[in-house]
Amino acid sequence: MKYEVVIGLEIHAELSTESKVFCGCATTFGAEPNTNVCPVCLGMPGALPVLNKKAVEYIVRAGLALNCEIANYSKMDRKNYFYPDLPKAYQISQFDLPFCKAGYLDIEVDGLMRRIGITRIHLEEDAGKLVHTPGGTLVDYNRSSMPLIEIVSEPDMRSAKEAVEYAKAIRNILLYAKVSNCKMQEGVLRFDANVSVRPKGSQTYGTRTEIKNLSSFKMLQKAIDYEYQRQVSMVEKGEEIHQQTLRWNETGNCIIALRSKEDAHDYRYFPDPDLLPVILSDEFIEDVKHKMPQMPDEKKKMYIEEFQLSEYDAQVLTANSELCAFYEEILQDYDEPKTAANWVNVELMALLNQNDMLVEELAFSAGNMAQLLKNIQSGKISGKMGKGVLSEMFETGKSPEEIISAKGLSQISDTAELEKIIDKVLAENPASVADYQAGKEKAIGFLVGQVMKATKGAANPQSVNEILREKLKK
Ligand code: ADP
Ligand code: MG
Ligand code: ZN
Repeated sequence: MKYEVVIGLEIHAELSTESKVFCGCATTFGAEPNTNVCPVCLGMPGALPVLNKKAVEYIVRAGLALNCEIANYSKMDRKNYFYPDLPKAYQISQFDLPFCKAGYLDIEVDGLMRRIGITRIHLEEDAGKLVHTPGGTLVDYNRSSMPLIEIVSEPDMRSAKEAVEYAKAIRNILLYAKVSNCKMQEGVLRFDANVSVRPKGSQTYGTRTEIKNLSSFKMLQKAIDYEYQRQVSMVEKGEEIHQQTLRWNETGNCIIALRSKEDAHDYRYFPDPDLLPVILSDEFIEDVKHKMPQMPDEKKKMYIEEFQLSEYDAQVLTANSELCAFYEEILQDYDEPKTAANWVNVELMALLNQNDMLVEELAFSAGNMAQLLKNIQSGKISGKMGKGVLSEMFETGKSPEEIISAKGLSQISDTAELEKIIDKVLAENPASVADYQAGKEKAIGFLVGQVMKATKGAANPQSVNEILREKLKK
């Protein structure tokens, strides 16, 4: 029998507010352990939380960007459990009245559009971080009460690839909306994958397991593939799948059972009596909508209509917020959007792909790239030379000026010098001159080629062509 995988994702994203969600402590990453702390985020009895308004604005922005309904009335709840990284023994989260619900995100997978439902987005606080050392386990509370949003999807994904594309698209949206820096290596974006299997064609869902805390797209992909195989082989053996919480073991490339899954009632959720319900007026929501940064769909439209980019170029650029930002930065110094898009999508992309690198890892700036394109635009160097300069910028991080002058690159645009070389070529090739003058148009191509050879490619082919035609008239 053939089995289909069913996946729902819970995505945690840390918001990029300057202070934590219920106190004034800084959110800076990498501070000395237990320095960004105060009685509130240390969970001292009697300390009172105050909701960060910026965090509310950010979650509303994320909700709007993901086509959600925004609640006018919302509240914070306590989720009770004990763990050493959670000093209060409860996490402030949202239970039945989250800020955002009923949204969706459209993604393209293998040329097909898929709409993934977003059940809800709620606001919560992060826990501290356990640091395991040979002498014992330590706790760093800097992360305690960092603002988090949790984006819960419907079980709408049908392959690991689809789940990865959805997760990438969510990351892209959060970056465009400027609510999170989404740095995966700092744990700012984390995924929980809920996975079940069912016979192909079945309309009911199988029992799901939940793989917690996946911190990269590769891990997400591998964990889902592994869990799918595991469940299928269990079902085929007639074994029953139990609702479980699992952990992906990256070094062992396998899954470890953490605990049998708890249900919502195990947490004894109740409204946090220290925090008032949050009432968002329509004006507040409208205001957030008004101040929304430009989202990828809008940008794509603008690129096609105003910059006259192809649908493909516009799609490639906007599907990657860092690439898009780099492109727009080039345009601040260079005014040919089509040429710039071509260089970014073809030449730069090729270099990035060959080296398995991201645009944010480039050794040179967008300003440098603009400078390179201006050198080509002005005719100082040819497009072909430009490609060589770009690869050297890529490898060394040097500016185009440095590379061009160190290599003595420049197109010969000095007419007097060119004329001398052309005269010599004409004198050496009387047969081609005669052919051209007898009406063989093709002969000029050969002569241009000879001039280019004589100048080692440094002449501007267009000027050569013009001068040659002028001289051959006589
Ligand atoms: P919990 O807090 O118990 O994990 P949530 O409602 O926050 O519950 O998240 C449940 C997640 O599991 C959602 O992303 C949902 O789409 C997904 N899910 C629910 N049922 C299934 C299923 N049968 N197979 C796969 N995923 C599922
Ligand atoms: Mg869950
Ligand atoms: Zn604090």
